Amino acid sequence: MQDELTYLLNSNRVTVVIMTYLTVAIQVTNLDSTIAACRAAISAGAEMIELRLDYLETPQPALVQEIIKAVQEMFTCPNVISLNTSNLRKISKQSQYPLIATCRPRWEGGYFKGSEEERQMLLLTAVKAGAEYVDIELACLDQPECGVSGLLEQSGDQVILSSHDFEGKPADLSQLMATMQQRRRQAAVSKVAYQANEIGDCFDVLDLLHRKQELGEVIGLAMGEAGMMTRVLAKKLGAFLTFVSVAESEGTAPGQITVEEMKEVYRWDALDGDTVVCGVIGNPIDHSKSPAVHNAGFTEIGFNGVYLPFLVETPWNKFRDFVDGLREREWLNVRGLSVTIPHKHNALQYVQEKGRRLEPLAGKIGSVNTLVLDKDGLVSGYNTDYAGALDAITDTLGIERADLRGMPAAIVGAGGVARALAAGLTDAGCKVTIYNRTVEKAVDLAAEFECEYAGLDGLATMEAQLVVNATRIGMYPEVEASPLPAKCLRRDMAVFDTVYNPSKTLLLQQAEDIGAKIIDGMSMFVNQAATQFELFTGKKAPRGVMRAVLERHLL
Ligand code: NAP
Repeated sequence: MQDELTYLLNSNRVTVVIMTYLTVAIQVTNLDSTIAACRAAISAGAEMIELRLDYLETPQPALVQEIIKAVQEMFTCPNVISLNTSNLRKISKQSQYPLIATCRPRWEGGYFKGSEEERQMLLLTAVKAGAEYVDIELACLDQPECGVSGLLEQSGDQVILSSHDFEGKPADLSQLMATMQQRRRQAAVSKVAYQANEIGDCFDVLDLLHRKQELGEVIGLAMGEAGMMTRVLAKKLGAFLTFVSVAESEGTAPGQITVEEMKEVYRWDALDGDTVVCGVIGNPIDHSKSPAVHNAGFTEIGFNGVYLPFLVETPWNKFRDFVDGLREREWLNVRGLSVTIPHKHNALQYVQEKGRRLEPLAGKIGSVNTLVLDKDGLVSGYNTDYAGALDAITDTLGIERADLRGMPAAIVGAGGVARALAAGLTDAGCKVTIYNRTVEKAVDLAAEFECEYAGLDGLATMEAQLVVNATRIGMYPEVEASPLPAKCLRRDMAVFDTVYNPSKTLLLQQAEDIGAKIIDGMSMFVNQAATQFELFTGKKAPRGVMRAVLERHLL
């Protein structure tokens, strides 16, 4: 559990913060660019700086000394001392932003081309100049000629003993950790970072962080997009630090997210050991607006949760193993999962095989977009898409679901969203016709939900009162496209476009121009997300805030 204590020392008020440092690694090339980069990092919200000395244009000890002094003088606050539980001696230091000196050699994925003696001199100088921590590679300890390993004897309580693998998870990770612990001796912190080639590779890092009490201060990172969750959950699990970048293009390792994103989207400052974890499973997932929408909702209602994107590979076994992995670790406190393309059928299968409860219409639609994990670890499956769509229609038209009974409705498309709408609208009693480019798919869907079907040419003579676009046509960047000719639209129709980016598609604009009622895809998105939010938190969703965040993130 993170803790913040305030001591009064000799009547000077001193704040002692025990924390997971939000750390920006800076590629140190020269003095001026380093000062500028430190200023940008600190004003963005960084809490610790790693100086990557391996990028120095002229790797001279005198320059290292000058840089460290300059950084410390510029960014020192005399009343605030950041220290770490295992390093209480740092109370005598006066730097607000602890510095790590790193000079990564090429054989460990860095840029330093000089000799080991030169590397040792730079790091020693950095420590003498006042860097709080120095990073040395575990592999050094097996090289007697490598002087850098001597730092462990001289300045052990300032050493971060590190191991990196940019290819993937080390085959012998538990052996690596055992060696790390054995060789760590007086080192302050152990660090293990490796490339996550799939999200399942994150679990070993999470397990490592969970063993913090036994291992002491530890940094665990899974790099790459698939490893993103380890960067955010580092704080929940009490890691020593996590790395972030200032700008998207500036990260020193793959998969780093920005300080701003960590704070604004992932609620960094509010995370602690009790934080409930939720997220969205998809592939791809980096475009998803759900993390921004749900996290803003958590902040709005003061819910101690974080909502993450989970990039899970498409096959069923990858989905199953990931959800199993989350459920097996009850200390992760995972409460709810949204599920998007291509996993909605996998989620259905998961609930059918391992779940407690499946919402009946979700079973009929053949698609689950929400998994709720109960305290006892059992899972229930829901589909909030169809209810989100029906509510968008009834709310915008100011009618009840019962008023949909007998209404002729046209659904354009026969994919996943069309399926949810066909189930929802027929359940509500609409007389539905499915129009699709591939007529065979329209035939199959119509047969399942007992409705009519036609090819897209049938749209010219449709008699629908409600028209729904359930294709991607009109979605950004193809904003000049519409799924049906404007001449098919009539003033007495209600036109619903499930596409939510842009919020007013060409189809909706054309419908509005002739005086038809319009229903946008954003309402459906917010409704389905709000229903998930209520399932996850047990609290009323702040729909206005969620919609405003969605609009802002679509700009
Ligand atoms: P999908 O399964 O890929 O279905 C796509 C459908 O669109 C198919 O019927 C396909 O016809 C048709 N289609 C695609 N390109 C076409 C083209 N150029 N001309 C004619 N028909 C075309 O997609 P989905 O999962 O159902 O999602 C559809 C859309 O719903 C998404 O693009 C998204 O904008 C929207 N959506 C909205 C929300 C929300 O909350 N508002 C949520 C999810 C999705 P064929 O069968 O002939 O290929």
